[in-house]
Amino acid sequence: MSSTKFIFVTGGVISGIGKGITFASLGRILKNRGYKVFAMKLDPYLNYDPGTMSPFQHGEVFVTQDGAETDLDLGHYERFIDVELSATSSVTSGRVYKKILNQERKGLYGGSTVQVIPHVTNEIKNYIKRAASESGADIVMVEVGGTVGDIESEPFLEAIRQMRMEEGYDSTFYIHLTLVPFIDTSEEYKTKPTQHSVKTLRSIGISPDLIILRSKGMLSSEIKEKVALFCDIRKENVISVPDLKNIYELPLVLEDQHLDQAVARHFKFDDRISDMSKWRDMVKRMDEVTEKVKIGLIGKYVKLHDAYLSVSCALQHASYALNRKVEIKWIESESITKDNVAKKLEGLDGLIIPGGFGIRGIDGMVEAARCARENNIPLLGICLGLQIIAIEFARNILGYSDATSIEFNQETTHPVIHYLSDQYDGIDLGGTMRLGNSKLVLKDKTKTKDLYKLNETLERHRHRYEFNSLYKNEYEKNGLIEAGFNPERNLTEVFELKNHPFYIGCQFHPEFKSRPDRPHPLFLGLIEESIKASNNS
Ligand code: GLN
Repeated sequence: MSSTKFIFVTGGVISGIGKGITFASLGRILKNRGYKVFAMKLDPYLNYDPGTMSPFQHGEVFVTQDGAETDLDLGHYERFIDVELSATSSVTSGRVYKKILNQERKGLYGGSTVQVIPHVTNEIKNYIKRAASESGADIVMVEVGGTVGDIESEPFLEAIRQMRMEEGYDSTFYIHLTLVPFIDTSEEYKTKPTQHSVKTLRSIGISPDLIILRSKGMLSSEIKEKVALFCDIRKENVISVPDLKNIYELPLVLEDQHLDQAVARHFKFDDRISDMSKWRDMVKRMDEVTEKVKIGLIGKYVKLHDAYLSVSCALQHASYALNRKVEIKWIESESITKDNVAKKLEGLDGLIIPGGFGIRGIDGMVEAARCARENNIPLLGICLGLQIIAIEFARNILGYSDATSIEFNQETTHPVIHYLSDQYDGIDLGGTMRLGNSKLVLKDKTKTKDLYKLNETLERHRHRYEFNSLYKNEYEKNGLIEAGFNPERNLTEVFELKNHPFYIGCQFHPEFKSRPDRPHPLFLGLIEESIKASNNS
């Protein structure tokens, strides 16, 4: 038994009702109460990690500082709680089963039959307990993906049920989040789905200690009382979360209903308050902003905005900090041609070309980069975006018309983006990328360094290919200069164009490090110049 307290959050009725954000918001108020919080997600699918899943299906892959490719909910945890998480924070069925099968092949089970209970459940509990010991947190928060009743989440629910037996009642707290639908015709909220969901949870041995009800509007105390009665919960442990215009309001909504006190009461914590005053000021400032800044996001997965979740959050953070509300125009890169590019980008104050994989839509991005370069439109290129900036420059300034990345054409005579032979053996797609933190040194007399106001820092990566250093001198002679590099392997990490208000490409993903109250310098730079551009137009 450890001294750590554990909070388990399960979902009921349907998915997609903001369980991750609610969970992350609770983390923030507990942190502001003075506790060290660690967060993890248990995902029941069989992929080892989301690294090889299509952004169309699963949204963005969030990368932690230690290079784990994880669920986008971890991004919410980092942004709200302001912690740096790790591979320990992300456990999938695939990861659990792979470990068990490896152990079984090595004969480590001593001839016994390997079963879901106890072997799979033990392994899941081990991951949770390891998170507690490695993080040294006062509270480990565990979100179980999916909804109660899914076949594949059963081993996870069984494992968290057993945690109460092992860690004790006072050290474990179960929160269930459900949907309370509003029926338009009868104009009433219905709690029946919640009652059923709690019943299902009970049938597997978990009695929730607190219920969070998601609904269109704020629920009345009568509805909360009804849920408390039917689900056998203290009335003050029923919390209502209505739809919100600004997701950063959520910690305040939870705090106003004393969610942290409910948790503290259960854990027998001392009486203190969660100081949310700075957060409250931040949300107030956000709400007061009226002026807009219009940013075009040129990507290939734009039909699913979740594929660029951290990028759009980082744009928001930087815009709010500069008293603007960002309006993102989602532009399908495949639809951009030489002839229509000016029209497509009309009225935009700035552009962003985010990360991506595969050849589809590349030429459209190159056209957008050309248009931004020639017309002084602020542009931030991230990862693939840096590679596009390099390709466009080689084609249109250096005159290498077939210049490209070897990701798109292995035969090109000008592979300005290539891979390093020690990095990738060309076989497996999973786990062969440059992932996680790597050192970035910033060069003097560059706009990038002026923005960072640092000599060096760490940034997170997720890519296979790199800028080909054989071409560096030629680029620099023609005005695209290296503003940041990795000293260990001498890799170009940032390019910036001279004599342009803001034309910067970075090989890493700055969006993962942006926080609502601490925007990333590169995003701040982009928005600052975009605001200037909008004032001039
Ligand atoms: N496809 C490119 C690479 O693997 C860029 C990856 C990205 O944008 N995350 O290098």
